[in-house]
Amino acid sequence: MTILESALAIQDQIKEYRHQIHRNPEVGFYLPKTAAYVQEKLAEMGIESEICGGPIDDAFRQKFVAAGFPDMAESTGVVATIGHGEPCIMLRADMDALPMTETPGLVDFTSEVPGAAHMCGHDTHTAMLLGAAKILKERESELQGTVKFMFQTGEECGCGSRLMIEHGLLENPKVDAAFAIHVMSEQEVGTLGFTPGITSAAMDTFMVKIKGRGGHSSTPHLCIDPLMIANQLYTTLNLLPGREIDPRETVALTSGKAGGGTAVNIIPDTADVLVAARTFKREVTHHIVERIPEIVDHTVKMWRGDYEMLDFHTPSTYNDEALCEELKPYLEEVMGEGKVHDVPCMAGTEDFGYVGDAVPSMFATLGVGGKGAAPMHNPSMFVDESMLPYGSALHATVAINWLKNHSK
Ligand SMILES: [Zn+2]
Ligand SMILES: [Zn+2]
Repeated sequence: MTILESALAIQDQIKEYRHQIHRNPEVGFYLPKTAAYVQEKLAEMGIESEICGGPIDDAFRQKFVAAGFPDMAESTGVVATIGHGEPCIMLRADMDALPMTETPGLVDFTSEVPGAAHMCGHDTHTAMLLGAAKILKERESELQGTVKFMFQTGEECGCGSRLMIEHGLLENPKVDAAFAIHVMSEQEVGTLGFTPGITSAAMDTFMVKIKGRGGHSSTPHLCIDPLMIANQLYTTLNLLPGREIDPRETVALTSGKAGGGTAVNIIPDTADVLVAARTFKREVTHHIVERIPEIVDHTVKMWRGDYEMLDFHTPSTYNDEALCEELKPYLEEVMGEGKVHDVPCMAGTEDFGYVGDAVPSMFATLGVGGKGAAPMHNPSMFVDESMLPYGSALHATVAINWLKNHSK
C-alpha cells in the first residue's frame, strides 16, 4: 500500500478530526480544548505527547491585550515524537482560529463558538498532521530516525512558534529539518506550491501612542497637539521606503489605525498611529526596524510630545533551497506529475519563519479551491476536503524519505 493509499483509506477519520476542531475554534496562544483533543487523538494512536508551552510573561501578555487579543495567561502547544534516534525531522501544524464569524450555512459543521472561526484553515492543518501521525505510527518500524510533531498555537499572533522554540521545541531530540503545509483557498485544487528562498514577508508592527497636552482649540499655542504630531509622523514614515531603501526592493508600509480626539473644538491629550511594514529581504527588514523607532522619537520630540510604543515582529520565512530540491520528487509522488510548482513568494506573513531561521525548512502551500474562491481570512473561506488525505500523505512521505536519506 502506498502512503497516499493509506491516507485515502483513513480520509473519513481525517475529515472528522477537522470537523471537530472546526466546530470548537479557539483563538491565540491558549487553546486548551484543541490541545486536549489533539493529545487525546494521539494517545488513541499510541503516541505520547506533551504540552510545549506554559505561562506567558506579563509584559508580553499586556502587549497582546493592547493589540486587541484576549488576555492569554499561557500557551498550549503540543509536541510528540515517534521513531527513535538521529536524525530528526519535524512536521508542523498550527491549531489557532481567527476572531471572526463564519458565514452561516457554509458547511454543516459550522463554528459553535461566537466570534471565533477557522477561516485560515488551521483546523485542516491539525487534522492532516493527525492523519500523518496515524500513518507514520503504523509504519514506525520503517522510520530511520525520529519524527517530531509540532502542533502550535498563536500563529495568527505572529510568534506562537517562537514561544514553542523558547520552551525547547527544537531540542530533545534536536530537530535537523522541518516541513509545513498551509492550505490556500484561491490556489487550484490538487496543486502544491513552494518558493525556494524567501517565501513569505516579514511583518513589523509599531503601535505608537502619542502624548501631547490637550486644551481649547482656540489656544493651540498653550497645547501640544498630538493629532498634528500623528499626522507628521505618518507622513514622515511614508517617506522612509522611498529615500532609504533600494527602489528594487519591496516595502509595504501602511497604517490600519490612526487618530484620536472627540470634537472639533478640543485638542486631545493623546493620539494613536499604528503602522505595519512588510518586507522580504533581511537587510531591508533590519533597516526599517531600526529606523522606525528613531523617526518616531525624533518626530514626536521635535514637537515637544512624548510617546509610548509597542512593537511586534515576525521574520520572513526562508525555504532552504537544497531541502526544497531534495523533497520535490517526494511531493510529486503524492500530488502527481506536473502538480508541484515553484511559485512567487507570498505577500502574507507566516510565523514558521522562526523555525526556518533555526533549522533547514520547507513551507509549501496546498491548493484547496481555485481562482474566484473566497480568500483566506474571509468569512466564506472554503476548503475542498478531498485534499486532506493528500496533506497527510505529503507529511508522511516527506518524513519517511527525508529520514531514509539522512540516516546515520
Ligand atoms: Zn491566517
Ligand atoms: Zn494561516
